[in-house]
Amino acid sequence: MVAMVLIVSGYQLTLGASQAEAYATTGCKFGSKTITWNYYSPNSGIQYQSQWVNSASKWHNATKLSVTQGPASSADMLFYAASWGNNGWDGYAPDSFNCKKGVHAKGMHVYLNTHYAAGYTSAMRESVMVHEIGHYLGLQHVGSSTTVCSSVTIMNPFTSRRWSDCSVNAPRADDINGVNAQY
Ligand SMILES: [Zn+2]
Repeated sequence: MVAMVLIVSGYQLTLGASQAEAYATTGCKFGSKTITWNYYSPNSGIQYQSQWVNSASKWHNATKLSVTQGPASSADMLFYAASWGNNGWDGYAPDSFNCKKGVHAKGMHVYLNTHYAAGYTSAMRESVMVHEIGHYLGLQHVGSSTTVCSSVTIMNPFTSRRWSDCSVNAPRADDINGVNAQY
């Protein structure tokens, strides 16, 4: 089944029966198309740098946004891998819905929970990192009940489905459309 999704001036028109595949937005995003990131850098050091770089680059390369490393003091996002224990999430974007007049502040934290992610492959960690970054770019979860891999996007909430079942660790067309429509 083919879903035809037309993006017109930020409005989304879905033709066909695959509405559940369409992206959803948080109502928050960054205030510019030029977005920078750096590491939150506590005493424990910085883990998984190459995977953070790859994950940000995937959004940079796929969308019309510039998503590059910049000074920590003014970065839009700060990446942070640490253990939050056995709490049910492997990644978290705690301020996804925290913005003023639709715009995020600087220094939004992106968490990777090493309690789980230490046992992941690099590619699986990137599935989590790309997902969490997607939240701050303005996307929320979609497709929680989707089981067909061709319809599973990076904004699927479940790492088991996104990665373990479907090997998705990069933005897909629906994710890209969802970001590009907002900026
Ligand atoms: Zn999520």
